[in-house]
Order: sequence, then structure tokens, then C-alpha cells
Amino acid sequence: MIVGTLSKITGPVVVADGMTGTKMYDVVRVGDAGLMGEVIRLEGELATIQVYEDTSGLLIGEPVESTEGPLKLELGPGLLSSIYDGIQRPLPVIAEDTGSDFIARGTVASALDRKKLWEYTPVAEVGQQVSAGDVIGTTPEGATVLHRIMVPPSVKGTIAKMAPAGSYTIDEIMAVLEDGTEIKMSQWWPVRYGRPYKRKLDPTTPFMTGMRILDTFFPVALGGNAIIPGGFGTGKTVTQQSLAKWADVDIIVYVGCGERGNEMTEVLAEFPELDDPRTGHKLMDRTVLVANTSNMPVAAREASIYTGVTLAEYYRDMGYSVAMMADSTSRWGEALREVSGRLEEMPGEEGYPAYLATRLASFYERSGRCEALGDGDRVGSVTMVGAVSPPGGDMSEPMTQNSLRVTGAFWALDTSLAHRRHFPAISWTKSYTLYLGQVKDWFETEIADDWRAVRERAMFILQKETELQEIVQLVGPDALPETEKIILEVARMIREDFLQQFAFDAVDAYCPPQKSYWILKTILAFNDGATQAMSRGVSLRQVLQMPARDEISTLKTTPHDEALERMPELVQEISEQISGIEVL
Ligand code: ADP
Ligand code: MG
Repeated sequence: MIVGTLSKITGPVVVADGMTGTKMYDVVRVGDAGLMGEVIRLEGELATIQVYEDTSGLLIGEPVESTEGPLKLELGPGLLSSIYDGIQRPLPVIAEDTGSDFIARGTVASALDRKKLWEYTPVAEVGQQVSAGDVIGTTPEGATVLHRIMVPPSVKGTIAKMAPAGSYTIDEIMAVLEDGTEIKMSQWWPVRYGRPYKRKLDPTTPFMTGMRILDTFFPVALGGNAIIPGGFGTGKTVTQQSLAKWADVDIIVYVGCGERGNEMTEVLAEFPELDDPRTGHKLMDRTVLVANTSNMPVAAREASIYTGVTLAEYYRDMGYSVAMMADSTSRWGEALREVSGRLEEMPGEEGYPAYLATRLASFYERSGRCEALGDGDRVGSVTMVGAVSPPGGDMSEPMTQNSLRVTGAFWALDTSLAHRRHFPAISWTKSYTLYLGQVKDWFETEIADDWRAVRERAMFILQKETELQEIVQLVGPDALPETEKIILEVARMIREDFLQQFAFDAVDAYCPPQKSYWILKTILAFNDGATQAMSRGVSLRQVLQMPARDEISTLKTTPHDEALERMPELVQEISEQISGIEVL
């Protein structure tokens, strides 16, 4: 056993002497209270430790004991619907045990319910050769997810004994291999290492979000990653939550690093109440929540990101599509900065450590669409969406810049749009995606041949609007010819009737991709008809009086099926209405 003594305490970072034999990233118990920490620097006998818990009251000379292993998570049935802190301690359970909302320092609590019985069905047989990732049995986890019990990575052999179908706890043995290796329903994995897979696949299926601007203009592939940078109050949290609710994935891992004092409390209170529009059950039934309230020490925030992605990879390995949200990654960056400062490392830009970019890259690299280890050709994915909170909305700061370099889509929130209450306040001029080439085939096959053409025409009109607005600001709107005024009108329709989407409206909260396409198609039909009519002398005023125009504005809140049936007709009617307008 490696036991040293505390020799220095500086906030969340402490130093222990006499730690020979301990390794980088080993977990240690610090002081008489047994606070959890992780070794982040080794120099001879000295180990520098980041402590995940409040270090006030610790005294020099108190013992520090190494667990001689890295920070690991317990992965098994019961993860879904759990709420954990950054190091996988269950929040509500601890609250019941200690009678408070805060976790008492030094608390050791099981991440999974050890008494709960799971209905287990074996799928492997005695005599079968198994290796990492092979499924030996299944158990329903909640109402909507089938949990696959997999042979842990690095285990291999022939099954000598198998438990029959029945109810078991996670501590019971489900299979024994000929060499005596026992396989249970749960397994452990160190958070800082990505879980292994057979191979990464090209991300070609879109991650459907139900948000028109994202699905049509800036789509991300399943297994891709995106960031949502935005100043305070621009809609990062609302967007992340609406993705959690509506994105077309099996499992949600939501890592919350509270920005405002009460923000996580709200998430903790609201999330368990949310209904799952996709299954009719509770959203929590397929969600794991990792919560860092702002009173938790910074080091735990740093760990929470890894905890989240490890949970996501575990469900990916079962063959599920998983979305991981992190709100906000800036709190994680600040934790890195604080710990680095305490270590007196050479600071990089704005005090962030020089390795910020590397850390961000190695985190986002853990997203992907993968063929899982083991039998059954399971394909799973982890799609990551990280919110970034640049101070004052200034996107030139290091967290935003370094994140955008390693991610495939940039969904920029715009403060002035949020002020004008244009929601979602995602800028169509600053945002971009690198996945278009990969997912366009899917859209052209599943939605419409001209999907990309329609998208590009709409984006072109918006771009034209930006240029024209500059002229309008200089010389006033009257100076524009009517052919350009109509562009401004159509751009306004795209903004108001297509891009704006109200997250709290029963119908509008989610828009299927077919509907997004048809709304744009309808607006473009109006544009074409109007341009044509004006070229034969019809006035702008006459064009704008067309009844179809009002109807277009109601499409987004019209029930999907009804709207989808109506829109092809409407396109037809628009061209009839327009050709019927007589030149006055
Ligand atoms: P942030 O997390 O960036 O600080 P929030 O997500 O809390 O900001 O959003 C702030 C407010 O903006 C919300 O309370 C809500 O009123 C409004 N809002 C943001 N996005 C939307 C949306 N898509 N639909 C309607 N309102 C929104
Ligand atoms: Mg927020």
C-alpha cells in the first residue's frame, strides 16, 4: 500500500510526499476525510494531486493513500436515469443517505444500485468462445432500452458456466470462462482512455435534430461533433435541451457544468419531469445526467467531461446512437486553467494551459460512428455537442478558437439575434458545417433530389439580403429597385417562417426534415413566381397581397402531416395565383 503525507495545500491542488510507486492519474484518498483526488504530476517522491472535493480544513501531515489505479467508472444496467456528479457518485441517492443536497466530503457511494434485480436473458452458450465485446446476455433497462451485457475489453476465452435466465443483481456472476474469469453484468473502465472498437466508419447519416436551421443549413453527421458558442442568454442551454429531447438518437448523456448558481438546480429539477416525445415515456429513461453544480470544486468539473464521454462510449459499444451534450465546456476549460495556474505551468493564451488545444482534440476525438468489438456487427455512434461560453460573446477567445479547430460544425449564437428575440439565435452568416459533403447523399435520397439546390438557393437569398441591407443603411430602402425589394421580402420570409423556431411550441419544437424542405420549397416557389410576375410588370405591392403569403407563415405551426399534405398543393397554387395577377 502506498501511503504518503500531505506536504502542501493550494486550493484544489495538493502535494504529497512519500508517494514512490504511484502512477500518473492514479486515484488517491487525501487526508483523514479520504477526499478523492487524482495524481497529475510526479517528481521523485512527490505527487501533485488535483482533489475533486473541497480541500478546506485539510492539514499538512495528514495521510494520502494511493488506490493504485486510475479513475474508473462502473458500467452496467442502471446507468440510465441516473444523475451523477463528475466522478460518478449518484446525486439523489447520496442526498437520501446524508439528508442533504450536497455530497458529504469523502463519500464513497456505489454508482449502480447493488440490490436491484435485473431480468436477465442469456444469449451465449457454454462451450462458446468469446472475446471483447461479445454479447453474453441482455436485460431491459427501463421501458425503452435493451442493455447488452458485453464481454469486457481484454477478456477472452471459452465459457465454462452460464447463469440461466432469471433475476440477478449486478454483483452476481453471469458467466465463468474456462480460465476462471468471471463476467458480471457490470464492468469497469478508466475514464481517460477511449473504449476500444473494431473500426471507425465514415459518418454519412445525419444527426437529425428537428431544428430547421441545423438540419437544413448546418447538418452534422451521426458520430460527428459540433460546438454551440454564444454569450450569456443567447440560447445555449435551451438548444442543448431541445437537442436532448428531439435528436434522433437512442441515448442521451448530458453533462451540465452550471453557469449560473441555480442553473444546474433547474436542470436537476426539470430533466426528470421531461416527457420523451419519441417513446411516450420519460426522457430520463434513456438519459444519464452528469451534473456539476457551481459549488463543486473545479477538478471535478474537469473529470465530468471524461465521465460523460465514457458513459456515451459504453452505450455506443452496445450498438446505440448516443448524443453527448456538454453545457458548458468553458467551465471545463476554466478548470484546466485554474489547475494549471496552481501547478505554476507556463501559461498559454489568456492564462489557459498550452495543452488546451491537445486536450480539446483528444476529447472531441472520442466522438465517432464505430463498428463495435464483438459479434453481431453492431454499429454505434457518439455525437458530441459542446456549448462554449465566450466571455462577452467574443468568439476570438481561446476556448472557442481551439474548439472550432477540432470540431466539424460551428453553430454560432448571435447576441443581436437573441436581443431581437429571433430564436434559435443561430447565425446563418457565421455558422458552418464540414459534414455537408458526407450527408448530402442521405438527404437527396431520403428527402428530395434537389435538397441541396433548395438549401443553397435559400442561403444565397439570405446572403444577398445581408449585402442589400448595407446599401439600405446607406441610401434608404426607397433607392432599391423593386427586383431587389422582393429579395428582401423573401429573405424576411426565410428568416421568420423558416429559421425562427419556437422551442416551447407543441408543434414547432420539432420539425421533421421533410417538412423543413417543403417550407423552403414553398418560399422559393413564392420567390420564383413573384420574380416572374414582376418581370412582366406586376407591382411589388400586388405580389405581396397574394393570399399564399399568409399561409406560408402558418406552416411551421401547422401539424406536420397536415402541412406535408398541403405544401405540394400550395406550391401549385402559388404559381396559379401569380400567373392570375393582372398588370395594372
Ligand atoms: P444561455 O444558456 O446561452 O445563457 P439560455 O439557453 O438559458 O441561454 O436562453 C436564454 C433565454 O432565451 C431562454 O430563457 C429563452 O427565453 C430564450 N430562448 C433561447 N432559445 C430559444 C428558443 N429556441 N425558443 C424560444 N426561446 C428561446
Ligand atoms: Mg446556459
